[in-house]
Amino acid sequence: MVPLIDTTVDGHVHTRLCKHAVGEMEEYVEQAVRRGLTTVCFLEHLETDIAYQPPCWLDDDEFAYYFEEGLRLKERYRGVVAVRLGVEMGCNPAAIDAIRHRLKRYPIERIGLSCHFHQHGLSHLNLLSRRPQSLDRLAAIGADAVISTYFATLIKAVASLDCDVLCHLDAVLRHLPGITFNNEHRGQIAQLLDAMQGKDIALEINTSGFDYRGSAFPAPWIISAALERGIRLEAGSDAHHPSEVGRYFDQLPHYLEPLCR
Ligand SMILES: [Zn+2]
Ligand SMILES: [Zn+2]
Repeated sequence: MVPLIDTTVDGHVHTRLCKHAVGEMEEYVEQAVRRGLTTVCFLEHLETDIAYQPPCWLDDDEFAYYFEEGLRLKERYRGVVAVRLGVEMGCNPAAIDAIRHRLKRYPIERIGLSCHFHQHGLSHLNLLSRRPQSLDRLAAIGADAVISTYFATLIKAVASLDCDVLCHLDAVLRHLPGITFNNEHRGQIAQLLDAMQGKDIALEINTSGFDYRGSAFPAPWIISAALERGIRLEAGSDAHHPSEVGRYFDQLPHYLEPLCR
């Protein structure tokens, strides 16, 4: 039987370059070696036309360094661990053409799709931050409406942008207590999974969720719904510190097994 997930591949790690993670790229690679992984894929934050301070993504100069240093590490660790260079592409529905243009400029090996920002007037609020500057204002707009917009954005992104994997599908408003998905949201999730199935986009099992809430992103029922559709699962630690590379991967086979009906 084919295993549900390859736990020797960490498909989602960050570096100090995004300004909210710590550690050099090589420190993440070193940790992947210590964990016995076969592959580590950097998935650095690429955001386009987002009005938010301070920036928590890479600018053009940082991406230039990222791909240069990444190529050096690929060579240096050849035969030890495979190093892949990807981006976590934040979808801004108002900037689809600009995103496409930027993707073409870089030698990207893997694209993770996510949505981290909610447009509010002329600026953006961070859907995944615990800072009150975003969280309080998102709560005032209304969690249900914000979540609907979030899923609508992902549905639009899957239809209009190329990507390989959808990251932390239900991490929206993860710091707002008591978040629940209503029937509309559940319908949107079904629509999103159908679209992913149609384009062979994998679902990320994001193990940072074990630290945030005791279970991976997304919730078990969403993983089951993905497996029913034959959607591939790919593991990502979403490491923002080198020690987090491959976190909880040893638990994943046992965790996922009962979700396969
Ligand atoms: Zn990040
Ligand atoms: Zn993310």
